[in-house]
Amino acid sequence: MNRKLIIAVLSISITFTSTAYVISSKELSKEAKYTSSSTMQESDINMVEVISVKSDGREVALVKDKSEIKKLLDMVKEKAIKESDVKEVEEVKLNSKITYEPKRVNYSEIKDLTHYVSNIVTDHDNNWSIKFDIKGYKEGDKWIPVSRGTISSSFGERWGRMHKGIDIAAPTGTPIYAVRKGKVIFSGWQDGYGKVIKIDIGEDTVIIYGHCSVLNVNKNDLVDAGEKIGEVGSTGKSTGPHLHFEVRKDNIPQNPEPYLKKY
Ligand SMILES: [Zn+2]
Repeated sequence: MNRKLIIAVLSISITFTSTAYVISSKELSKEAKYTSSSTMQESDINMVEVISVKSDGREVALVKDKSEIKKLLDMVKEKAIKESDVKEVEEVKLNSKITYEPKRVNYSEIKDLTHYVSNIVTDHDNNWSIKFDIKGYKEGDKWIPVSRGTISSSFGERWGRMHKGIDIAAPTGTPIYAVRKGKVIFSGWQDGYGKVIKIDIGEDTVIIYGHCSVLNVNKNDLVDAGEKIGEVGSTGKSTGPHLHFEVRKDNIPQNPEPYLKKY
């Protein structure tokens, strides 16, 4: 039974091979005529000048011109950002030494950029042959509006009134940092809030920093997370130096505590 099967398979493959041979022998005879008259030129035609791109000394791609090096790096960078856990990119740094040099290769050796990109990024253990450092806000990162302080009043009902934010008591002059990158939509005096900064961080969310003693930003400024924007004070309706920190989504105050580091 087994033997019969093997014979059957063999006869099929022989048939196939002989057919294939007939086809290729025709092709070969045609090609033979051509190559016999110009063997040298034929091999020269297939050789092309390309750029060998190396990352930390190791060849990672063959490209036609310098503009393709940038394209290649941009494609890898895009993948690195996409696959990182950074939600809001603040800084992208190339962490490999890229060099390039001319090289003569057979034309057939050149692959398209997507092929090289997938080779560069599919190394196991996340050990990409071109590395990018991606820094920025990660989902779950805690917000740090002041480096130290104590929560003196929480969000919610307070003496029959709604407290729209959280109070962090800290000495006057303590630096206040933007917790997320965004655009300053207000920096000035507002009754109750005193000197106050409002920053639009996108997704219909505005962060409010109230009772400041010093304002370091102006309306329309773009700020990064961690950037100093002002100093703690006791301006407006306040009984002592503290930061009134408010988060509004669609203008509705949210409890900021889950976002904040523990104070
Ligand atoms: Zn408050």
